[in-house]
Amino acid sequence: MIPNYQHVDWQGQPWPLPCGKVVCIGQNYHDHIVEMGSKTAPEALFFIKPNTALVPMAPGFAIPVEQGAVHHELELALLIGQPLRHASPEQAMQAVVGYGLALDLTLRDVQACLKQLGRPWEIAKGFDGACPISPFVPAAAIEVPDALQFSLWRDGQLQQQGAVTMMIRPMAQLLSEMSAHFSLLPGDVVLTGTPAGVGPLVTGQDLVVALPPYLQLRCQVHAASL
Ligand code: ZN
Repeated sequence: MIPNYQHVDWQGQPWPLPCGKVVCIGQNYHDHIVEMGSKTAPEALFFIKPNTALVPMAPGFAIPVEQGAVHHELELALLIGQPLRHASPEQAMQAVVGYGLALDLTLRDVQACLKQLGRPWEIAKGFDGACPISPFVPAAAIEVPDALQFSLWRDGQLQQQGAVTMMIRPMAQLLSEMSAHFSLLPGDVVLTGTPAGVGPLVTGQDLVVALPPYLQLRCQVHAASL
């Protein structure tokens, strides 16, 4: 199945931007670094998911089966509206046209194996459907982006809670640094890292994600067909 995804706004209207790549940061929250027992370095850990990873999060999305644990990582997602290359932090924030939520789905067992072999992670994080994503709230509707908070409930249990104020690299710095490595283009999405509480998804689960007071979505977890 070829994914057929298009960015939409919080009213469900198509956003007139192409479906670009997804640029992500690992290790942007202390509590997640601690839960993973990860080694850290001063240099940022950036990686990319292809645009074939993007799928709508609601009303449901599919996860791979028979490849071990699939973990949810709930992250604040930024929709890019202007090209950014070697951007200053100020220029970078002006290019953000929308805010939403994304799941950085991760094949955790596959990733652990790859880490042990010293290999890159692509197949653990870049597979088709590896980035379920919400509609985007227009940046103009958000008074204080630095005050945004978000949460994920899994089968009714609060599992993850994050806030912009908890980020090790604030959004402006993150975008500026990313744009020194990869040009960001209109329609690209930036994921800003996950807080603690990542865990396994199984088919039939019911997720609720919230970016109060702007977005709340309920989504069902399905099994991917091959
Ligand atoms: Zn992540």
